[in-house]
Amino acid sequence: MRIEVLTLFPSMFEGVFGSSILGKARDKGIVSLQTVNFRDYANNKHNTVDDYPFGGGGGMVLKAEPIFSAVEELAPPGGDRPRVILMCPQGETFTQRKAEELSRESHLVFVCGHYEGYDERIREHLITDELSIGDYVLTGGELPAMVVIDSVVRLLPGVLGNELSAVTDSFSTGLLEYPHYTRPAQFREWPVPDVLLSGHHDNIARWRREQSLLRTLRRRPDLLEDADLTPKERAWLEKQRSEPES
Ligand code: SAM
Repeated sequence: MRIEVLTLFPSMFEGVFGSSILGKARDKGIVSLQTVNFRDYANNKHNTVDDYPFGGGGGMVLKAEPIFSAVEELAPPGGDRPRVILMCPQGETFTQRKAEELSRESHLVFVCGHYEGYDERIREHLITDELSIGDYVLTGGELPAMVVIDSVVRLLPGVLGNELSAVTDSFSTGLLEYPHYTRPAQFREWPVPDVLLSGHHDNIARWRREQSLLRTLRRRPDLLEDADLTPKERAWLEKQRSEPES
């Protein structure tokens, strides 16, 4: 996969792109991660990328031209069109489903805003997706772009050492993930649940599924509506619903 990020602050990405899973994915050649400073495409004496809004009011607006020029150099018109993703608090809320969808693409371009907003023509004529990472406002699109890129790249084949870990992650299954324990089996007065030490794989799988269902019921009951559950599991959950939380 090829990923480019249009930003006025490329240095913010250095640590994130070079470390941990993203750094390894890059080293293995699974993904190419580049930043592009769209100030280099300003094409005016003072390298200005923003201007006052028509109609007045506070805040500066990112100009269309530098962003169009940068994207068109990365993906010349007439060739394969990448997904061009605008980071924006007004966009579609980013989810694991969207991460899965984007992980099937071969070329993603992220546009990070700053200041008050963008010239609307960027939205109307250049962008394929607008993504928000939640209902709050950050100073720029860099942190949101990092969040999205991290969650997409970890889904690419060969990136995670243990492929299973992405499959059982919260949301991938439609449910929250079950609890984990590691050594020691007894820490202070808190033992690990017996079933996990039993070596009985079917019982362990059953316990994990129940924990996953229970956790989703208690924390994110909204997810259960669309989850793929058997009639037996639905009935079991109904019973749990009426029982007090332990
Ligand atoms: N005036 C804009 C509005 O009300 O929608 C907010 C602009 S915000 C200060 C500057 C930039 O930060 C945005 O253009 C966007 O790139 C980024 N940003 C802020 N919050 C975000 C969020 N929740 N998700 C994605 N991007 C966000």
